[in-house]
Amino acid sequence: MSRAYNFSAGPSILPEDVLERALKEMLNYNQTGQSVMEMSHRSQEFKTIIEETETLIRKIMDIPSNYKVLFLQGGASSQFSMVPLNLMNKNNKADYLITGMWAKKAYLEGCKYGNCNIVASSEDKNFSCIPTINPESFSSDADYFHICFNNTIYGTKLCAIPDTGSVPLVADMSSCILSEPIDVSKFGVLYAGAQKNLSCAGLTIVIIREDLICEPMDFTPTMFSYKVHSNANSLYNTPPTYAIYICNLMLHWLDEHIGGLKNMKRINEKKADFLYDFIDSSNLFHGTCRKSDRSIMNVTFTTKDKTIDDKFIKEAKEMNIINIGGHRKVGGMRASIYNAMPFDNVHRLVEFMETFEKNNLN
Ligand SMILES: *Cc1c(COP(=O)(O)O)cnc(C)c1O
Repeated sequence: MSRAYNFSAGPSILPEDVLERALKEMLNYNQTGQSVMEMSHRSQEFKTIIEETETLIRKIMDIPSNYKVLFLQGGASSQFSMVPLNLMNKNNKADYLITGMWAKKAYLEGCKYGNCNIVASSEDKNFSCIPTINPESFSSDADYFHICFNNTIYGTKLCAIPDTGSVPLVADMSSCILSEPIDVSKFGVLYAGAQKNLSCAGLTIVIIREDLICEPMDFTPTMFSYKVHSNANSLYNTPPTYAIYICNLMLHWLDEHIGGLKNMKRINEKKADFLYDFIDSSNLFHGTCRKSDRSIMNVTFTTKDKTIDDKFIKEAKEMNIINIGGHRKVGGMRASIYNAMPFDNVHRLVEFMETFEKNNLN
């Protein structure tokens, strides 16, 4: 059986090199006679894996030494609660930029614990763009300012990082972490569920400035305390060991095969430009977002006719091009082209779109 052209938004494809290495090491990791899945998280072998994973991500993202890297579970969705529980402890206040469903979910969770102010929202435009941000709407006494950097469902991304002064910026990076270089020092907290660009599902990475790790709200469950996980170096309880190992392999691939984030960005832009250029020249397909806000990870488009969209998705599947349907809340099509997506597969998709256009334009 041949591998599919899989444009899933998450969990999504992994580099074949990574899968093959995992396969090779499945029964006997590094002469230990065990799979990483079977290994104690307290063993020296696993400690080496988690420590090396941290070293690699620090190197690749150029993470300053006053930041902690935490390997947690619960997905990005748990961070929607963990962030307010731990950070909203000075003025019980936070700012939120509403750019999509995930950003809104984070906001609604924050509202359970304190005063949340919506700085701007593009919900009235069905999140097809990033709203204009007016610094006058910022709360100078907010405990943090929350953004979702790349809006997976709608295919938009923030092009500029808002200047929040001394208010720590918290960013959901689930669908764009490691896709291009970013200046970590501009952020208080970065978090990401791993199943899009980092690893398989089960792991959530949190990169947090040390001074923000303090006593959480007094009713916070132990498992939701950054301090507890930080003090235990992510080994307070059993971490998602296998997902950390896959993350380790992904980071090696990114470092050695791709050559770091500058190269990754160049490759990602080449893939995205190729697909957007075709969409913009097409008479059948239309992009769904404002051009200046387009994501390089999730490309959303439609024929503006649900029957044709459904036909496209069905015929794509017959050609082994799968998971190309848009999010159930939006419809249309979405091609997620994360780090692991080879250019050739995007090329294959465009070829299919060209053929489909010829057959369906009347
Ligand atoms: C996928 C996604 C989430 C949800 O992640 P889970 O790990 O399933 O909780 C949150 N935010 C963004 C931006 C996402 O892409």
